[in-house]
Amino acid sequence: MHFWLAVLVLLWSRAVHGYGSNPYAVSNRQAIRIGLITDDTTDRIRQTFEHAIAVVNSDLSVPLVGETEQVAYGNSVHAFEQLCRLMQNGVGAVFGPAARHTAAHLLNACDAKDVPFIYPHLSLSPQTDGFNLYPHPEDIAHALFDIITKFGWSRFIFCYESSEYLTILDHLMTLYGTKGPVIKVMRYDLNLNGNYKAVLRRIRKSEDSRIVVVGSTEGVAELLRQAQQVGIMNEDYTYLVGNLDLHTYELEEYKYSEANITGIRMFDPDKKEVRDLVETLQHEIGESEPMNNGSSTITLAMALTYDAVRVIAETTNFLPYQPQQLNCSEHHDNVQPDGSTFKNYMRSLDILDKTITGRIFFQGNMRKRFSFDVIELQPVGLVKVGTWEEGKDFEFKRPPPIIDLNENEENTLVNKTFKVLISVPNKPYASLVESINTLIGNDQYEGYGIDLIKELADKLGFNFTFHNGGNDYGSFNKSTNMTTGMLKEIVEGHADLAITDLTITSEREEAIDFSIPFMNLGIAILYIKPQKAEPEIFSFMDPFSKEVWLYLGIAYLGVSLCLFVLGRLSPSEWDNPYPCIEEPEELENQFTINNSLWFTTGALLQQGSEIAPKALSTRTISAIWWFFTLIMVSSYTANLAAFLTIENPSSSINSVEDLAENKDDVQYGAKRTGSTRNFFLTSEDPIYMKMNTYMTNHPEMLTETNQAGVDKVKAGTKYAFLMESTSIEYNTVRECTLKKIGEALDEKGYGIAMPKNWPYRDKFNNALLELQEQGVLARLKNKWWNEIGAGVCSDKSDDEGSSALGMKNLSGIYAVLIVGSLFSFIISFFYWCLFVFKKAKFYEVPFCDALAEEFKIVVSFAENERALKSAQSVYSRSRNSSQSIDSLETDSENNLPDED
Ligand code: GLU
Repeated sequence: MHFWLAVLVLLWSRAVHGYGSNPYAVSNRQAIRIGLITDDTTDRIRQTFEHAIAVVNSDLSVPLVGETEQVAYGNSVHAFEQLCRLMQNGVGAVFGPAARHTAAHLLNACDAKDVPFIYPHLSLSPQTDGFNLYPHPEDIAHALFDIITKFGWSRFIFCYESSEYLTILDHLMTLYGTKGPVIKVMRYDLNLNGNYKAVLRRIRKSEDSRIVVVGSTEGVAELLRQAQQVGIMNEDYTYLVGNLDLHTYELEEYKYSEANITGIRMFDPDKKEVRDLVETLQHEIGESEPMNNGSSTITLAMALTYDAVRVIAETTNFLPYQPQQLNCSEHHDNVQPDGSTFKNYMRSLDILDKTITGRIFFQGNMRKRFSFDVIELQPVGLVKVGTWEEGKDFEFKRPPPIIDLNENEENTLVNKTFKVLISVPNKPYASLVESINTLIGNDQYEGYGIDLIKELADKLGFNFTFHNGGNDYGSFNKSTNMTTGMLKEIVEGHADLAITDLTITSEREEAIDFSIPFMNLGIAILYIKPQKAEPEIFSFMDPFSKEVWLYLGIAYLGVSLCLFVLGRLSPSEWDNPYPCIEEPEELENQFTINNSLWFTTGALLQQGSEIAPKALSTRTISAIWWFFTLIMVSSYTANLAAFLTIENPSSSINSVEDLAENKDDVQYGAKRTGSTRNFFLTSEDPIYMKMNTYMTNHPEMLTETNQAGVDKVKAGTKYAFLMESTSIEYNTVRECTLKKIGEALDEKGYGIAMPKNWPYRDKFNNALLELQEQGVLARLKNKWWNEIGAGVCSDKSDDEGSSALGMKNLSGIYAVLIVGSLFSFIISFFYWCLFVFKKAKFYEVPFCDALAEEFKIVVSFAENERALKSAQSVYSRSRNSSQSIDSLETDSENNLPDED
């Protein structure tokens, strides 16, 4: 039917214009102008338009000339002005901008003047169709319907961007009729300022995990991006994208999310026409590399612009068309004379090749018989899994997963042989095996690094040969781009790997790559342990600190004095010096100053004395003193034993600050070419900078190897070596005279060095992780650090030594002594007052007089005796009594109150 229509149109046009029988024979026709009114700010539509004209012109006898007018998106007034300008220039056809309302406005104007109007974007209302190669929403709905049916979904969410896209839902519902899956409809709207997270969170909370998304190219891309942020881009969710530009999306980050993303596209990015277009764009506007693996930077609007130019070219090639200049004003009823013929002819075409989007065929206003590629996102990119063709059965055949050749063949390590650099001897990482037989090849070496490579080789299947790379692990000089040591060997391709105590540093990372760290460490100080102290003449004093000795002396004197005073205060301590004399004239107190001192001395030295306290107060203070001396003597004895066996308890260097100050004249250094030295060279910490200056000024303090540093420390010449904690740990369990001082200065790790962008790096890292998880790394570390050659130093040697007991340890017992003494005083004072009171009562004298008399006796410290009759004079004012006070004093048990 189309064919006959085309023939009729042709015959008619020939009759009207009277051209010759062969249209190609007409050579005096002028070039045909076609206009592009675009609101695309990226300029890519214009580029495509011009590229397409250039391509078709090579086949045309009457060339096409493109005229482009740029307008702002949605500015219909300006667009109309531009259209008028184009019409005045005599354009034969006009391509409209993306903005739908503007396009509708221009279409009306073009229709009025019979100028063909081409709209290469999705048109959601049939009125704005014009001449449109974009599939109709009805067909998009049909394709989605077939895919959903194939997937067997019984429920899904239909997520649409704005009301215009409801046309697709409308058609979908029509296709389902009364039966069909449960469809939940949700809208994500650009009016929400591009924040679709509320909608996406609702999806996450709902029971549905299958989502059909329709919307603009930018809107859908943003929705997918935010879906990932909301956490619904994973294996539980399936997305069916109804936008035909899915192939232009940046899908890299979704590839491994395991979310199922399916979509439809109208062309294969690998097609020759697409590649040519991409090349032109690259050439003209510096376009970045085209995306591959099923993706492309070419949007469907660009592809349809290209195809529409092809349709115009086909038409002008066949139909003599000479557009006239027009006045676009409504008042001029001039129209394009052959405009309708042209449009009809375009619609009658059936183009099969030289287009990007495949077959171009029209049924009425709608493009038909086109096909969609059904595409699915897989780790290798977008993969075609089916073809949907209008009017035919939907073919869905998911091909077997694409085997990534890179993954499975090129990158396999099986049977590959790598040259591995080691540093020999460098225990425990690598050293020569001690054997009476002559060993060759890999058998010569043993160590942690050797074992680790063997474990990795077992896992990954590669072969290896070890080579001694020397002591210089290497560095990279950014300014000269020069590498040294092992790094150089790897960079220049002389070796594949390097394993030793090789620290991962940012500087080295610029020249080579590292595996993940297999060991963690930090810089610390290796120093000699404190030596045995020379015995000192007064070393018996060491168990107690000076403070304790001082307080002990004070306590001794204090308690003796207390005893003396308490003795005088306590009447029971006043005794008859001659028991055979019944009526003594004087009483005597045993607690003289001398006796008090002797009593406390006897107790302190655990010897005792013949003096026996009788009063409650003197007994209390004596008991407290005995308890005090018991604790003190026990503590002293216990600590003395430790002191007689210990070494000098403190080391002159305790921290990096001490080292920086060269405290006690201790000198220090590090390995000359290692990362430790580099740490100080690059540090901005004032202490480390100071240490760097010292090491720079004393190059003789730097060593070629770690072992040389260890030997230097062992020599005991007040030399400390800055070394990595793992190596320190290794040496201190073997060399009992060495110890680690202070905490690590930094945190870093050892890694296996490999060439930059080495293809097997991921495999190595995975294998290393597995070894870590399986505990193999810990086992190897234990083997080389704590088993082979270890255990020679007893734990005792790690003893930090004893320290003198200070007041902190003994203050409790002093407190007990003070409280006990106070208590004795209170008791004593109480009984003394009671005694005085009874005495006053007995003699019927005022209490104050009796107190004054007794006080005098107590404070007469020089007198050790008291006269029994002395009270007579004092109490002469009192009544004659049948019994004297003195007799009461001596007969305290019967008559007068006594403290006992
Ligand atoms: N691990 C260091 C390096 O990778 C060597 C030893 C050190 O500098 O302490 O260079």
